[in-house]
Amino acid sequence: MDLRYSEEYEGFRAEVKAFLADNWPPKGEESQRSQDEQQARFRGLAIERGYLARAIPREYGGSEQPPDVLRGAIIREEFGRAGAPQDPHPPTAQLIPTLLEHGTEALKQRYLPPTLRGDLVWCQGYSEPGSGSDLASVQTRAERVGDEWVINGQKIWTTGAHQADMIYLLCRTEPDAGKHAGISYLLLDMNQPGVDVRPLKQMSGDAHFNEVFFDDARTPADHIVGKRGEGWIVSRSTLQHERNAAGRVAEVRGPFEELVRLAQKSVRNGGPAIADPNVRQRIAEIEGYVASHEYSAYRQLTCDARGESPGPVATMNKLAKTDVCLMMAKLAFDLLGDEGLSAPVSSRDGPPTDSRTWIYEYMNSIAQTIGAGTSNIQRNIIGERGLGLPRDFAAQKNR
Ligand SMILES: Cc1cc2nc3c(=O)[nH]c(=O)nc-3n(C[C@H](O)[C@H](O)[C@H](O)COP(=O)(O)OP(=O)(O)OC[C@H]3O[C@@H](n4cnc5c(N)ncnc54)[C@H](O)[C@@H]3O)c2cc1C
Repeated sequence: MDLRYSEEYEGFRAEVKAFLADNWPPKGEESQRSQDEQQARFRGLAIERGYLARAIPREYGGSEQPPDVLRGAIIREEFGRAGAPQDPHPPTAQLIPTLLEHGTEALKQRYLPPTLRGDLVWCQGYSEPGSGSDLASVQTRAERVGDEWVINGQKIWTTGAHQADMIYLLCRTEPDAGKHAGISYLLLDMNQPGVDVRPLKQMSGDAHFNEVFFDDARTPADHIVGKRGEGWIVSRSTLQHERNAAGRVAEVRGPFEELVRLAQKSVRNGGPAIADPNVRQRIAEIEGYVASHEYSAYRQLTCDARGESPGPVATMNKLAKTDVCLMMAKLAFDLLGDEGLSAPVSSRDGPPTDSRTWIYEYMNSIAQTIGAGTSNIQRNIIGERGLGLPRDFAAQKNR
């Protein structure tokens, strides 16, 4: 198997690199603008050149390029290396394919262009205090009153709700229907009196998550994605996009190389930590997982290239990637020694240092094994859909 890119693709890579060298990071006058403005302008240019929003029709603000998974992978690799803005961050990112797949023409026309430019930021209102892994048990209610939905209830762990303009959320609209059948997928403006966002402080000192309370919040009747009562099906497609993205390959090799550098710089028993056989053994073990994750991520890329759904492969990759990130962060934490316990962690504590970046990563890598479905849930999916094992007993009981 030859995993190198062909000459044609390497030529394309050179084009992308030249574009990045000219445009990111911003130079001259452009570098004086605010970060948001710089990113929006850069995104606009990259869409014009066909590097971002490639699968999205021009009428919705995309660059409508012919499908080419390898070009897409090269763009992700090079933009990632340059630290350049890519398509919008999660959870905004997952709404885009969901709207394309299930949204009405009016919703696509209205919301896709500003979302792609980065002018409209979304948050995801799925989890509730009693509904995380068992998401179909959501209790937040939406009642149809005239031309509007009126929403009451509570969401939790809502990433970025304090900065979001809009929320896509799951609500119970048919209280008498079965558990999965009574849910609808609604879009709602966060800037209204019926929406109360309360931050949840994390152990790092930052507050990326929130509780969101809805007290007679309102949204127009046509702000529903998919049919009434079919929100469960729509939500599956958002989650699948989230897990597909979570299993991407490029994000593992970079941190591994950083880890090796940290082991070279850290001191243990009077010499570089990397000379310690125990450290070397842990690094070698991790590199094995990094490499196997890379090959498995190529399987996902192959499925994309063939237009096939990656199915359980994407789930495996999400699980493998979050596990390997956790192993790397644990070793880094051990290498940092006392500094790992005392260094400041929050982004408010000044520019990142090696130790702060790794301690934050240590905390964050645990969170990543929970977000978009916990590792246990991924194992259930792999067992049931990948290996054909009997369904999870608890889930069957709750149907
Ligand atoms: C970084 C991050 C970002 C997040 N962002 C968002 C967001 O923007 N919007 C949003 O709606 N939610 C978000 N969440 C919430 C996330 O989706 C839930 O935390 C997750 O689905 C787990 O739900 P829970 O916390 O209620 O845990 P629970 O479902 O109560 O699970 C508790 C434990 O039980 C295990 N468990 C539960 N059921 C089973 C089962 N059937 N089989 C085996 N084990 C099981 C779980 O694996 C876990 O270990 C985010 C979470 C994190 C960590």
